[in-house]
Order: sequence, then C-alpha cells, then structure tokens
Amino acid sequence: MLQHSERKTVMAEIVLERFSKSYGSVEVLHEFDLTVGKGEFVALLGPSGCGKSTLLRMIAGLEDITSGTLYIDGAPMNDRPARDRDIAMVFQNYALYPHMTIYNNMAFGLRRLGLAREEIDRRITRAASMLGLDPLLARLPKQLSGGQQQRVAMGRALVKTPKVFLFDEPLSNLDAKLRDQLRIEIKKLHKLIKTTTVFVTHDQLEAMTLADKVVVMKDGRVEQVGSPTQVYNEPRSVFVSRFIGSPAINLLPVRVVNDGARVRLEGDGFVVRLPQRPHAGLRPDQEVLLGIRPRDVRIADPLSADGICARFVLSETMGPETLVQIKVGDQEISMLVDESQAPELSESMQIMFRPDRLHLFDRLTELRLAGC
Ligand code: ADP
Ligand code: MG
Repeated sequence: MLQHSERKTVMAEIVLERFSKSYGSVEVLHEFDLTVGKGEFVALLGPSGCGKSTLLRMIAGLEDITSGTLYIDGAPMNDRPARDRDIAMVFQNYALYPHMTIYNNMAFGLRRLGLAREEIDRRITRAASMLGLDPLLARLPKQLSGGQQQRVAMGRALVKTPKVFLFDEPLSNLDAKLRDQLRIEIKKLHKLIKTTTVFVTHDQLEAMTLADKVVVMKDGRVEQVGSPTQVYNEPRSVFVSRFIGSPAINLLPVRVVNDGARVRLEGDGFVVRLPQRPHAGLRPDQEVLLGIRPRDVRIADPLSADGICARFVLSETMGPETLVQIKVGDQEISMLVDESQAPELSESMQIMFRPDRLHLFDRLTELRLAGC
C-alpha cells in the first residue's frame, strides 16, 4: 500500500509578476507576466538567447530578480534562498557528481536534508523503478549513456518530491531517438505525479507535445501564451507562426482587393478569394502577409475555377507524406501531401490553399489581423 506521503499530490501555483532582469545596463527580461497553475506543465519556447534559462534560474533562486515579484502558492519568494523554495531543477548537462555512484548521486541532497536512511532508500527505490534505473544504481555516471545519465538527473529531482520541477533543455544533448523516448517518459511521469512543471526548450515539437500551455518568448518578452492547438492554429504574430509547426509556414505578400461582397487577396501569380464573412480587419489596397502551412496547401481539381497554377520544383519523401516544393509566380512554396495525393503530382498543376486555414498578418507590425 502507498504511504501517505506518496499519495499526497505535491504541486504549487507559480506567478511571475512584471518579472525583469538586467545584467548591468543590458535588460534580458522585460516585465514578464506568467501564471503556471497547480499541476500544470508549461513550456517556455523561444530561440537561443531569448532569456529562457535566466527566467528559470530566477524561479529557482539561482539568479536575483532585478524587479517584479515571484509568488509560489501566493507567497512572495524573491528573498527566499534557493534551498527553501521546494523546487528541483534538471539541467541540459546532467550535472552528476562523477565520483559518486548513481545511488549516492540521488541520495546526496536527501542526506543533506537530514532524512532517515530508510526514507532515502524508499524514495530512491521508487524513483529508480519509475525511471528504469534499478540495475544501474551501483554504477558511476561515466558507466552510463547520456540518456541514462539524464534519467538519473531526473531521478535526483524526483526523490526530493518538490512542489515544482524546472527543466532546462534536458533533452538537447541526446540523439534523436533517445530524445523521443525520454520525452515520452517525462510526459508519463507528469501524468503520474502531476507536479507543477516549467520546461524550457528551443524545440517546438517538445513544447507542443509535452505542454498544457506553451509560452512563446522573443527577446525577453512573452510573444504568445496558449495551448499547443491555439499557438498552432492562431499564431498571434509572424514570429509565432514561423516558430511553431514543421515544415515551416509559407508567408506570401498579398494585396487586399474588394470584389463585390467578397474580398480577394492578390499575390504574385495567384489570387485567393476569402470565404464570405466579415473581414473587419481588412482595408482595400492593404498590403498583408498571407500565411499558409504546407499541410494546408492541396492539389486542386484541374477544372476548379479557384485553382492556382504551380510548377513542380522537387519533392522529398518523408514516410507516408511527401514534402513538395512548388513555384507559384516567382516564389517557392512548400506543400505537404499524403500518399493518396502523391500520384497527382506533375510538372504543372493546380493547387489551392485551404480557405479555413489562412493566416493574415499586418505587413508592418507583423501581428495577426483581428477577425481574419
Ligand atoms: P536562453 O536560455 O533563452 O538561450 P539565456 O537566459 O541564457 O537565454 O540568456 C539571455 C540573455 O542574457 C543572452 O543575451 C545572454 O547573453 C544574456 N546573459 C545571460 N547570462 C548573463 C550574465 N551572467 N551576464 C550577462 N549577460 C548574460
Ligand atoms: Mg538556455
């Protein structure tokens, strides 16, 4: 039977309020607001240098907060030292003690907390069995593969039964197959223990597959917060539309033309008629950017009146799907077709953009146009 301490779900709410960080005169985080709900899995996603690690280290207490407040379960934490925050962090480089066995690596922090030997043993045994580390406990870190070492680092965080887990790109040093494996394990682990988690990554696939909520960051600011589906289907800006989704979105300059009751978009070598609905955000002659994802570009019926003429450039088979480069006017467009459509590929063909999957952005501000 489970002990009481095991059944208790340990989780906390984290609130960042106008969080800012400067190194001297360089401001790396600007008035960052974020709430991570109890038990939630939040991914901070952004390019290298946008401030992800800095933010995580500020939550952990490893870095001063220049201004703003960190609350955990409603209590301000700014002046609370790292060891009193009940947080465990997993780093990209594992950071294991090389001269200690795996068991001792996991026990080290618990001994420092003064826990009884039986309790330490019980926690390690449980974490080791959750992470498949049982046969490795007597080994030294150098006798383990990278993936195993990262599992130990996770185990070491797990045995602390913290209120909050912080992960800083934990999968970046692993090869693709291990990364996939460990990603699934992290997800399973979170389903099981439901500890509030902030996971930093520059890999959109990791963020999209793991998180309940994705925070897209750019230059130390929040660019968009939303569920994986929201940031994919309704990117707030060109930046988000480019960062999320693979293969990358096509972005095409177009001009708005009023066509009786309907609106059409004229681009280089193509015209797109918008579905009949109010397009409050669009003015005649406005220059906008049309975003269309490769999987929302389709081969059209050759007789369709709305088809767009395209020339075949090259194709790459990606298992059941084929990524096709085509040329429309002078611009190259990516199109992702499934097996059933592949035979229809030819030197010259008609394509279409799925009308319900168009993204329109202001060309100057690069922000999504409302109501489009
Ligand atoms: P990320 O984790 O998103 O790649 P970081 O949080 O590591 O980004 O860094 C954000 C920015 O802060 C970078 O421009 C980096 O050069 C700068 N930075 C990080 N640590 C320091 C430091 N100790 N002193 C000065 N600048 C720093
Ligand atoms: Mg980093």
